[in-house]
Amino acid sequence: MKIARLLVRGKETLALDTPAGLFDIPAYFERAGLARVFQDRLASLEKGETALACSIDGTLLSALEELERTTPGECLIDSPVQYLPPVRRPGRIIAIGRNYLAHATETGYSAPREVLFFCKAPSCLVGHNAPIRIPSWVGRVDPEGELAVIIGKSGRNIPEEAAFEHIAGYSIINDVTARTMQEEDRKRHEPWFRSKSIDTFAPMGPFLVPAGYVSDPQHLSLVTRVNGEVRQSSNTSSMIFSIARIVVHVSKFMTLEPGDVIATGTPEGIRPIVPGDVVEIEIESLGTLSNPVVAE
Ligand code: MN
Repeated sequence: MKIARLLVRGKETLALDTPAGLFDIPAYFERAGLARVFQDRLASLEKGETALACSIDGTLLSALEELERTTPGECLIDSPVQYLPPVRRPGRIIAIGRNYLAHATETGYSAPREVLFFCKAPSCLVGHNAPIRIPSWVGRVDPEGELAVIIGKSGRNIPEEAAFEHIAGYSIINDVTARTMQEEDRKRHEPWFRSKSIDTFAPMGPFLVPAGYVSDPQHLSLVTRVNGEVRQSSNTSSMIFSIARIVVHVSKFMTLEPGDVIATGTPEGIRPIVPGDVVEIEIESLGTLSNPVVAE
């Protein structure tokens, strides 16, 4: 099950992606007489968190399964759509550094002894197909294909066995990095927040896949292509720190909240992108996130 947040004819909506096309979820609820039942959840559409609500609400999920089965023609979206990030404005984007051994090695580091995490500003999120805008003064810029974990339930000091109860679903995120700037900041022992947080440097999507529809998030193939050429080809099974251990570690310090996004680290194969390129990140069961690169 793949849920997208879209802009259609200037209006924000939610859609279900099926082999038959994109189906308008609010239109379906209206047609099926469910609009009143789901009024509250639909109202939260304005806050951009309805995709999240869909992924954790059993009744809603059953309604979406019915939509997926019946795919009523009246609810098919036939206008051009713009994809928005599946979560509009997460409280935080927490990103994990050096979580694949071969990537740590290629950047000149060894495996971290404990989970290494930092933040990306939520303001740099963009959706599927939106351009990654590279400022002329920024130096080398690298894409980083990563599995995104979306938190659905608050928690502090989450025990490992309960970690997955706090996860609403999964998506794909590109942890775009201004590498030259990051290296310079590191050498000066300064934080690398700015090099990770430039506007448009966090494409995410196209979909939120509810956790119950991903059978084993710790065993998904991940491929990054630039202009069709494979640059990264790995599997989430190669993470040094598992998804569960990341949730345990981060929640030791801060309360994880619904909508928070965790970018779980990138595998090896990092090379720069330049204006004119197209970056595609494909993760098994989650789809393909594609973004063109342009000069700002
Ligand atoms: Mn990264």
